[in-house]
Amino acid sequence: MELRCEGCAGCCVDWRPLAPDAAGSDRAGDRPPLDDAYDLVPLTRDEVAGFLDDGLGDVLVPRLFEPAERDERVAVDGTEVAAAGDRPVFMLGLRKPPKPVAPIGTDELRWLDACVFLDPTTLQCRIHDEDRYPRTCATYPGQNLELDAETECERVEDAGGGDRLLDDEPPADLPAPAFGPQALGTTVFAYPDPDGLDGVIDRIRSDSLTDDDRARFVGAAVGSRPGSLSVDRDRMAEARARARDADSWAGRAIGEWTDRAGADGEPVPFDADSQERLVRELEDDAGAPGTPGWD
Ligand code: SF4
Ligand code: SF4
Repeated sequence: MELRCEGCAGCCVDWRPLAPDAAGSDRAGDRPPLDDAYDLVPLTRDEVAGFLDDGLGDVLVPRLFEPAERDERVAVDGTEVAAAGDRPVFMLGLRKPPKPVAPIGTDELRWLDACVFLDPTTLQCRIHDEDRYPRTCATYPGQNLELDAETECERVEDAGGGDRLLDDEPPADLPAPAFGPQALGTTVFAYPDPDGLDGVIDRIRSDSLTDDDRARFVGAAVGSRPGSLSVDRDRMAEARARARDADSWAGRAIGEWTDRAGADGEPVPFDADSQERLVRELEDDAGAPGTPGWD
């Protein structure tokens, strides 16, 4: 596998407003997510625990699913969601606030949802190859190539974003897929207290989850046991409290970007120098790891 990622960030940015016909959709499978995030990065339980240990519990967001025809299901607030027994199943990924970016080879800065860890100036990942770098990102688009599924890189190419996928041989050391029975308690979790989810479905759909909503799911994921539906209640409560109390540079930056952002896809009302100053103020000076830029 060989990629040309410079100036792209197609797998880190929701670029649907730029090229709706070329961009894919997370809603295409037989279990559409309830939220509308693009390319959510599924995290393992250990990765979630790692973010929590680093004080980054405020960068995580849950994803629940509409049930496929053959799926078990449970009603939450009158909405049927995919379930394991009577417990809603969910994944956790990284939040995507609106940021001023010019991805996939474009040169006009626009407000687009982008991974909390994407440096908007260099379009590089702030945790690349670090301890918290998700395995999904480290191996992307290996699973797609293995399954002969379309990659984000090819979509970017189709949108006129330049040559991206230079060698499509999947890597030999791919991890297990994030979905499937083997993923239960590892990347797919079961929420043990569906009666406590009042209003959560509406807030997922309207992208308005509260800190407490997100923390509930972080707790349940960290309390989960691989291969099992059972949850360690003490571990769950402790992780939930830590996620709720998290106050990281990244969580604060999400709030700052969200407050400043214009409409989805709208050009930003400032130039590249102002973008750089703003990114330095809201991310770098607040504690974000730097990125090297492209040689
Ligand atoms: S963690 Fe890094 S590589 Fe993964 S989506 Fe976020 S910015 Fe992109
Ligand atoms: S979409 Fe492909 S080429 Fe673009 S940044 Fe992601 S992995 Fe690299």
